[in-house]
Amino acid sequence: MPTLFDRIIAIRSQLPASVRLVAVSKFVSTDAMRSAYEAGIRDFAESRIQEAANKQVELQDLPDITWHFIGHLQSNKAKKALELFPWIHSVDNLKLAQRLDQLAQSLETRPNICLQVKIESDPNKSGWTVPELLADLAVLNQCKNLQIQGLMTIPPLGLNNLELLNVFNRTRELAEQIQEQNWSNIGMQQLSMGMSGDFQIAVQAGATMVRLGTILFGDRPA
Ligand SMILES: *Cc1c(COP(=O)(O)O)cnc(C)c1O
Repeated sequence: MPTLFDRIIAIRSQLPASVRLVAVSKFVSTDAMRSAYEAGIRDFAESRIQEAANKQVELQDLPDITWHFIGHLQSNKAKKALELFPWIHSVDNLKLAQRLDQLAQSLETRPNICLQVKIESDPNKSGWTVPELLADLAVLNQCKNLQIQGLMTIPPLGLNNLELLNVFNRTRELAEQIQEQNWSNIGMQQLSMGMSGDFQIAVQAGATMVRLGTILFGDRPA
């Protein structure tokens, strides 16, 4: 059995240097996170606010960690999310974006965010459909306290590799299309896509951030 350290080194070596490896540490102990840190991980992603808050206290001696939020964010937790996370990948509707923008102003913070899109319709996932997102861009552009960095997507379950490649390629093409519209406050440099089962395909399609959990840390509790 390779150790966590060895797995991280092996995965890192498969990724182009320009791709950011975000370690998804939900349900993972802070001891394992320390081992990941020793193997070079500096980006950790969590999907639950309280779990992340506890871990940030336990790991406060590691000051150069960047924390990413990737879970569904309820608006009553938006303030806490901004206090804990400089990156929020899972901004999935206009109302939430506007709420984060207002709160960011009062907290005097400028969060990095990704807009979560559904390329294929998926009743189990939140996020903008493509037409909805295109229609909301003008309002998103007014959210001056947000640093909109790009798109995030999670493909529906059950796609084969070709279908996955198609979803990731269409996500990149959507980002390119938005980029060409030259919005003053909407950046599209980042593509947060790719998880343990499909990250090689996502990287092939142009992912700039992959979010890897089980392939690094092993299975989570069911
Ligand atoms: C849990 C989770 C991941 C990591 O999934 P793995 O398959 O364990 O790599 C990535 N992105 C999001 C949004 C998640 O919730």
